[in-house]
Amino acid sequence: MKTALVWFKTDLRITDNETLLKAASQNDSVIPVYCFDDSHFAVTPYGFKKTGDFRAQFLMESLIDLDRNLRALGSGLLILKGKPEIEIPKAVKHYKAVKVYAKREVAFEEKRTENLVQSELWKLRCEFLTFSTSTLYHAEDLPFSIKNIPDVFTDFRKKTEKDAAIRLAFEKPENIKSPEIPKLELPNLKQLGLKKIIMDPRAAFEFAGGESQALKRLDYYFFESNLISTYKKTRNGMAGPDYSSKFSSWLALGCISPRFIYQELKRYESLYTANESTYWLVFELLWRDYFRFMMKKYPNRFFYKNGLKNSDSSTSKIDFQKLHNWIEGKTGVDFIDANMIELKLTGFMSNRGRQNAASYLCNDLVIDWRYGAAYFEQQLIDYDVCSNWGNWAYLAGVGNDPRGSRYFNIEKQAIDYDKDKSFRNLWLKKQ
Ligand SMILES: Cc1cc2nc3c(=O)[nH]c(=O)nc-3n(C[C@H](O)[C@H](O)[C@H](O)COP(=O)(O)OP(=O)(O)OC[C@H]3O[C@@H](n4cnc5c(N)ncnc54)[C@H](O)[C@@H]3O)c2cc1C
Repeated sequence: MKTALVWFKTDLRITDNETLLKAASQNDSVIPVYCFDDSHFAVTPYGFKKTGDFRAQFLMESLIDLDRNLRALGSGLLILKGKPEIEIPKAVKHYKAVKVYAKREVAFEEKRTENLVQSELWKLRCEFLTFSTSTLYHAEDLPFSIKNIPDVFTDFRKKTEKDAAIRLAFEKPENIKSPEIPKLELPNLKQLGLKKIIMDPRAAFEFAGGESQALKRLDYYFFESNLISTYKKTRNGMAGPDYSSKFSSWLALGCISPRFIYQELKRYESLYTANESTYWLVFELLWRDYFRFMMKKYPNRFFYKNGLKNSDSSTSKIDFQKLHNWIEGKTGVDFIDANMIELKLTGFMSNRGRQNAASYLCNDLVIDWRYGAAYFEQQLIDYDVCSNWGNWAYLAGVGNDPRGSRYFNIEKQAIDYDKDKSFRNLWLKKQ
């Protein structure tokens, strides 16, 4: 009797989940687990929580949905809480598991936890298998080794599009054999140092966690509304649910995979239309891949003040009053303030808003960009370590931007993207 654990992390789905599928087909019995890692709810050296209220709620909803979907296949989700390097081996001993299957990590802290778990499992003679399941292109299919990936996005994109293929998504398992898995028991928010959110009625979108919601949104954005066919024209919008796909939060927690999105996009193209808008979604997903591969190439450099330039990790003197005003949306620059208030009250900000808010912090307030990145980490529902720190470093001029520094003229941006002030009026009205 071969028993295996599947350790879910940011891959909270059953479709296109190689980790789950392999575990189910190679073992007699499988125990799916999720561990609330204490370190994910700690406070960072920048003074912000690693996980804020908005993302915590989305995570809980995603776990409830995953448990429901696993139960429909004959299994369920076992919840652990503590340090993964202690809790995962404990569960291995309890269930006499001989293998643990998990998603392969790339970022520094995630990799460190993965290594700690692996060495504890070795002591138990338990095999640890990891699978690369987050990207559109598989790392092994790239036309370069990780250390030779071009540091300029366009070079990376052109060669990858020309010389690599995107693998097919995996089907979901037909069934999963598991022992009786106890009823889902999630820690309450208070235990995690968090509180229940009250969503501002002006929120661009009602985010609800879980694979089922992700699939619903995809169906809506592609097939029901056809919005995908105009995405390139609308994607720089700032207000409302439909100017962009809003896939990011589900992608960040792995409720949906980029390969599944790609497959559905191809189906859409074959049924309806293939145009520059349908291509542009793939282009954006390539940015996502790129930051992930860059994190693999430079594991901890994205967290240094000078990023890829050199490894200075000192902290600069910070004007905390200015930082506070930026966070609270009280800088006096209405375009920045409207965006920052949206983020504070909803856990979301458009890509246009993020670029401007980041540029303003780095170039106008001249504050160490890592404080901004750490605040976004706390606040964003769609926080993803590679996309967040990669984009921030890029805008701070210490990442992958060949132009060096990228200064946004906020006044001009406000005119270009919010000419009639409707976005600013929405968020700057009396709260
Ligand atoms: C300072 C800053 C911080 C950011 N932090 C994050 C983050 O923590 N998590 C995150 O998912 N995105 C981040 N982004 C990228 C981008 O802003 C969001 O992915 C996007 O706004 C999410 O909305 P959407 O899903 O509707 O995007 P769409 O425009 O519909 O794009 C589709 C998908 O492509 C990917 N994508 C689009 N733009 C980017 C980009 N610049 N970099 C990486 N992937 C991209 C996302 O997965 C997104 O869901 C950040 C951007 C900036 C400038």
